[in-house]
Amino acid sequence: MSQPEHEYVKRCRACDAPIVFLRTKAGKLMPVDAGAVLHDDYQFDHKRHVSHFATCPEAATFRN
Ligand SMILES: [Zn+2]
Repeated sequence: MSQPEHEYVKRCRACDAPIVFLRTKAGKLMPVDAGAVLHDDYQFDHKRHVSHFATCPEAATFRN
């Protein structure tokens, strides 16, 4: 049985991977690899979620 897709799943503009934007404790939005995000997650948890900045092969394009 596959995990339901997160309702806010988007595609990375750089590499087309499925990502979800979650809130950090600082209140910023962070792109997270969608595979690690449960459908009711809304806050970034570094123990469970993987920042897409760490896995995106095109991460340099985010920095501007
Ligand atoms: Zn990417």
